[in-house]
Amino acid sequence: MILMKDIIREGHKTLEIVAKEVKLPLTKADKKLLIDLMEYVQNSQNDELCETYGLRPAVGIAAPQVNVSKRMFVAHVHDFDGILYSHALINPKITKRSQDLIYVPGGEGCLSVDRETEGLTPRYQSIVMEALRYDIPSDQVMPVELHLEGYVGIVFQHELDHLDGILFTTKLFPELPHAKPAFELLEDNS
Ligand code: ZN
Repeated sequence: MILMKDIIREGHKTLEIVAKEVKLPLTKADKKLLIDLMEYVQNSQNDELCETYGLRPAVGIAAPQVNVSKRMFVAHVHDFDGILYSHALINPKITKRSQDLIYVPGGEGCLSVDRETEGLTPRYQSIVMEALRYDIPSDQVMPVELHLEGYVGIVFQHELDHLDGILFTTKLFPELPHAKPAFELLEDNS
């Protein structure tokens, strides 16, 4: 089981290099890694397991973040209509992108970044991502073409950046006049 101690942090070289394409067929180790990464993200969305294992909540994690420099990541995220996007992807590529840019209004977060950051990270409003998808329950690998937009698209772009050695902390801007917020921040009245 992956724990916070297994996740490498900002400053580690593996987070700054371009990860290698994954060769097919997937090895047992590659499959196990994808299963473990998905388990981390799912567990991290469960309050009780977070508390028990000291996990930081996440909607995605990439192989380089556990010091494996291969082009694989998982995302497990709901959009604002409650639709789940749960994918373990291999060799993903963006094949289409919108001109329009968006950003997470409060700024992005990352399991590999422990400090508070200030600034906004521009992302495409919508993308088409092509990849191989490992379907964990059936143990099958199939090509997929995912049409992603808004917040969910941001999550996939953040994870893809990890495969190219890019942390969101290298893409922080005080303001983005040509981009729109991906959603409204909820007022904190507490
Ligand atoms: Zn990250």
